[in-house]
Amino acid sequence: MIRLEARDVTVRIGSRTLLDRAGLAVAAGEMVGLIGPNGAGKSTLLTVLAGLRSPAEGAVLLEDRPLSGLEARARARAIGYLEQGSMAHWPLSVRHTVALGRLPHRGPLAGEGADDRAAIQSAMRDCGVLQLAEQTVTTLSGGERTRAMLARVLAGQPRMILADEPVAGLDPAHQLQVMDLLKQRAAAGQGVIVVLHDMALALRYCHRLVCLAGGAVVADGAPLDLLERGTLADIYGVDLLTGRHEGQAYALPWRLNREVGHGG
Ligand code: ADP
Ligand code: MG
Repeated sequence: MIRLEARDVTVRIGSRTLLDRAGLAVAAGEMVGLIGPNGAGKSTLLTVLAGLRSPAEGAVLLEDRPLSGLEARARARAIGYLEQGSMAHWPLSVRHTVALGRLPHRGPLAGEGADDRAAIQSAMRDCGVLQLAEQTVTTLSGGERTRAMLARVLAGQPRMILADEPVAGLDPAHQLQVMDLLKQRAAAGQGVIVVLHDMALALRYCHRLVCLAGGAVVADGAPLDLLERGTLADIYGVDLLTGRHEGQAYALPWRLNREVGHGG
């Protein structure tokens, strides 16, 4: 079973502890939601899982082997990482930017093969950016850019997909499109970790939710269990409006819960 795991990971910067013995695992075929308040350490944990930051303590394991033992190209083929608010740094066309996602599969000097072209095309189609193929990425709207950068990650056909707030700033239709897409990737056997704040989407789409607060994992379980136990409300310090539709539970943040100590 293909599995990516952060085990008891601690990250410190100066005197601050960003992650405190945090643990999280995702298996092939699974879609895990990583949730928690701003500043909880979600992005930090994702960069550690992507092998982009070394923890002071603990380890990241891919199929039970330390990720740090993998050379960079092999790691990039295995793990696709979508940075939060991912910016396009060069004024390349969308097509060219998405094609960069294939670099771990071929040398920088080798031309695009049929496999590369097929992967680029299907990633652009899945992310709804085909009609933007010739547009310069730096001129895209925020939501369009996010979908283009996600297409770049998907073009690499990684076994594990780590997406940091991929639906933040997307319109409702594109939020559902991106969540559907990630869920399809999980169904097709890839492992997915998605950072998100939308509880309705978290409940509907994720097999499991991991809750971070203050750099520590405070809950890890089935979305519905966490909702029913009040964990989702507690970690954000809000009262939730909950209900059911088409047999599925939903939850919306309704008001600050002052008992939890947020607000004033
Ligand atoms: P999240 O993604 O959950 O919102 P982050 O992982 O981005 O949180 O950040 C966790 C905490 O670490 C935040 O309080 C942030 O201010 C802090 N932090 C992140 N990077 C640095 C840094 N380079 N120096 C100091 N503090 C940092
Ligand atoms: Mg973040």
